[in-house]
Amino acid sequence: MKKKITCIECPQGCQLEVDVENGYVVKVTGNKCDKGTDYAKQEIENPMRVLTSTVQSDGLELKMVPVRTDKTIPKSQVLKAMAEVQKIKLTQPVKVGEVIMKNILGTEANLIATRPAAKRSFPS
Ligand code: SF4
Repeated sequence: MKKKITCIECPQGCQLEVDVENGYVVKVTGNKCDKGTDYAKQEIENPMRVLTSTVQSDGLELKMVPVRTDKTIPKSQVLKAMAEVQKIKLTQPVKVGEVIMKNILGTEANLIATRPAAKRSFPS
């Protein structure tokens, strides 16, 4: 089977044609460097993604706090990880980069805040 994918390892965006047999890459053409071959193998055989989402909060300035994983996780785990993220409700202030959930689903990726969220101040 042939698949066409775009290499995103650099701005050149080479259009790769990938021969796949039994889920494994056997040939890559269209790449201008070896990174394209590595990218095709990763993307076809074990695609990885950074998970980005928001988590609910209670008593913080932001109702929904933006988060992401600090490294990629297997694409096959993204939906399951999203389900875990949806269970979170922050009640304490967070800073940018603060870990909200460690080692999500055993992937070794941590879920971190991408915006600060302070306690909501109520008028006295
Ligand atoms: S194959 Fe090489 S040159 Fe082409 S987009 Fe990928 S990294 Fe860039």
